[in-house]
Amino acid sequence: KPVCIITIGMAGAGKSTFVQRINSYLHSSDPNKPPYILNLDPAVAFVPYEANIDIRDTVNYPEVMKQYNLGPNGGILTALNLFTTKFDQVLELVEKRAEDVDYVILDTPGQIEIFTWSASGAIITDAVASSLPTVVAYIIDTPRTTAPATFMSNMLYACSILYKTKLPFILVFNKTDVQSHQFALDWMADFEEFQSALASHEGTRDSEGEPTYMNSLMNSMCLVLDEFYKNLKAVGVSSVTGDGVKDFFEAVDASREEYEREYLPELEKAR
Ligand code: GDP
Repeated sequence: KPVCIITIGMAGAGKSTFVQRINSYLHSSDPNKPPYILNLDPAVAFVPYEANIDIRDTVNYPEVMKQYNLGPNGGILTALNLFTTKFDQVLELVEKRAEDVDYVILDTPGQIEIFTWSASGAIITDAVASSLPTVVAYIIDTPRTTAPATFMSNMLYACSILYKTKLPFILVFNKTDVQSHQFALDWMADFEEFQSALASHEGTRDSEGEPTYMNSLMNSMCLVLDEFYKNLKAVGVSSVTGDGVKDFFEAVDASREEYEREYLPELEKAR
């Protein structure tokens, strides 16, 4: 069975570029087994790869906005809801191709919360994960997450997705050609490193020299996150140069085992 990679990321983190990169990597590593790609972003103007199934072929996003009198986000959500009603058919198509492909890649809408916090997103994720070994790839804009507070909010967001989906999870630190992700690995391996980075950052003490509320909060929060870090894998990649893509696929293979070991038994219990 192929592995399904669900790519999720904040707008601008480089999700499209990343999908394009892993697509071309898989094409060149085995030309006979290209990945099967699903685009779930109805509002994207241009995708830099050829999707096997594209939500835009089924749902006309501008028309949905007009017909239901919606703004951009409501339009994307409604388009995704409409598509989800037919997702059983989509899954059938994927399953038909299961013999010939090693990887199924699911590209989600650029507005991250539309997928992560909607009923449709949950339905699609559960449907895929009950049919194929599935892993979540969370794309992070590394150069933009070097400030301790930003880093922590980003990790909390990732954490909420992990606990919502309960799927194997890979943190993909993207854009390593601009900024190495070593600082993140250090902070994740040792929370005291993070705390000292926090302490040396501006704005963590008030006028009396006492730690601010935010600072104390973050100091305690990183103890919670410590538990979260133990449950996931982290890789650094550059979607521009292709650096680290091999490491990413090693993490995907390890995640397949994790899926079989941890997710599958739970799934069978629930059935
Ligand atoms: P998306 O909104 O998450 O789909 O982001 P895009 O794939 O459109 O990328 C956002 C911006 O980041 C674009 O200008 C990309 O060229 C740039 N970008 C994406 N990946 C990388 C990377 O690995 N390194 C560098 N330097 N830039 C990147």
